Amino acid sequence: MAITCANCAAVCCRLEVPCIGDHDIPEHLTEYDGAGYLRMRRLDDGWCAALNRAEMNCGIYARRPLPCRELQTGGPDCLAERARFAAESG
Ligand code: SF4
Ligand code: SF4
Repeated sequence: MAITCANCAAVCCRLEVPCIGDHDIPEHLTEYDGAGYLRMRRLDDGWCAALNRAEMNCGIYARRPLPCRELQTGGPDCLAERARFAAESG
């Protein structure tokens, strides 16, 4: 099956995402890590707090942080997360 975000459960949205560079991300969707760096907040189940759970796509797409913009569909991080999710799902 072709690798496309259209048939993926947004599994890259479980990665830790640092809020680097200029951004306009709603504050309540972010948090500081132990070292004092701002990152996207994640829910107890691991998914990013900005994820639209009904559609399983980004709820702040136009304002999403730089790492999310740069993550390549079919690239190493994408493939690793898809494989991890598939292994977890059995
Ligand atoms: S970039 Fe990869 S892991 Fe992320 S939603 Fe698209 S296909 Fe899924
Ligand atoms: S900001 Fe959007 S694209 Fe980035 S991890 Fe969160 S839901 Fe996914």
